[in-house]
Amino acid sequence: MEFKIGDLIARGEFLCACGKVHRPKIKKAIIGEGVISSLPDEIRELGGTKAFVICDPNTYKAAGERVEKILSDAKIPHTLYSFREGHPEPDEKAVGSVILHYDSSCDIIIGVGSGVVNDIGKIVADVAHAPYIIVGTAPSMDGYASGTSSVIRDNLKVSVNSHCPDVVIGDLDILADAPMHMIQSGMGDMIAKYISIAEWKISKIINDEYFCDETANLILAGLDKCVKSARGIARRDKEAVRAVMEGMVLSGVAANYAGVSRPVSGMEHYFSHVWDMRMVEFGTTADLHGIQCGIGTIDCVKVYDEIKKLVPDREKALAYVSAFDYEKWSETLKKWLGHGADQMIINEQKEKKYDKAAHAARLEKIISHWDEIIAVINELPSVTELEKLFDTIGAPKTVDEIGVSREAEAAAFPITKDIRDKYIGSRLLWDIGELENVQKIVFPV
Ligand SMILES: [Zn+2]
Ligand SMILES: [Zn+2]
Repeated sequence: MEFKIGDLIARGEFLCACGKVHRPKIKKAIIGEGVISSLPDEIRELGGTKAFVICDPNTYKAAGERVEKILSDAKIPHTLYSFREGHPEPDEKAVGSVILHYDSSCDIIIGVGSGVVNDIGKIVADVAHAPYIIVGTAPSMDGYASGTSSVIRDNLKVSVNSHCPDVVIGDLDILADAPMHMIQSGMGDMIAKYISIAEWKISKIINDEYFCDETANLILAGLDKCVKSARGIARRDKEAVRAVMEGMVLSGVAANYAGVSRPVSGMEHYFSHVWDMRMVEFGTTADLHGIQCGIGTIDCVKVYDEIKKLVPDREKALAYVSAFDYEKWSETLKKWLGHGADQMIINEQKEKKYDKAAHAARLEKIISHWDEIIAVINELPSVTELEKLFDTIGAPKTVDEIGVSREAEAAAFPITKDIRDKYIGSRLLWDIGELENVQKIVFPV
């Protein structure tokens, strides 16, 4: 499937064969060399007359200074807010600080940055009811076209609804100059989609979950472009960087199409979430989102390689689930996540992921459709292929390289099934009573 991200967004909303009306939400993605100069036109097109610009010291150097000059030359007044520290945490303090400095005579918000600045910019635009443009400084994560922000609230990493950027400006001269670790992070966030798409397909088989072929194929096409560009990443080739940036924007569009995060995140993301939650709670080490998702992807393929060797056994599965003790399990959640576990335990009361009658019905579906499930797993790349790909782009492949302990890696695996109400590999293994067996094989500690 060939696609051009600009054409895809320009297509606007349409009725898809899956039965849903798909909306991209974002109005425009401008990706190319020198495109930052289009900023004044985009501001005027959105009706902006005075801009509130948000950045941090690093993104100011990367593009904020240019943005100020472009605005001055175009005679567009602006107020600049820059975080004092280079890597602000997206928490109450950071969001509150921007709001306290907000200049209410402004009528458009411009974020200059990537992950954190964009997440906060989307919240400020939402609160101010103002249009929002993000000038990307690194193709490091896939939140450029999404209407949610990943933040830390009450010490918990949560996703809150915010304002989807109206326009993304991805100037390749700036993006190709981003720290290499951030470009690798974007690749990791994209490679993660192998797992998220496979798990979406598996859940469709087992739970008759809503699924859209067109959306899944778009993501796989964007992913394929990134994989083919891997060699160019290390030498900062602009077309390779373009592939990653387009993949990041495409991911947001695909999630908006589906109305759920299925096309863009699965079990691999939940490894990363566990490590992030532990950082917030216990001060342990964590790395960039996409770097962790990349390592999580390799871990997930190892898990699926074990699933391929199994044949579900009805008696064994029913006995396992009947002996399962949620109280005891919630103690394990608390041990590894501290306060972060509280909301997960509350969520289980309405999600009922461990309901035994629902399990029995699911198990029958799993047993009768096992060949189909294995066929989906067989489409995944091998561990060797992934490791080669990571070597090509120079990204870390193991938790050892990012300072996450092997214990935290092993512990994260069964916890992935409690992060969201989403049917993923660890839940499939719980359903067939093989979760701990596979944990021991893949994550020996
Ligand atoms: Zn569809
Ligand atoms: Zn992600």
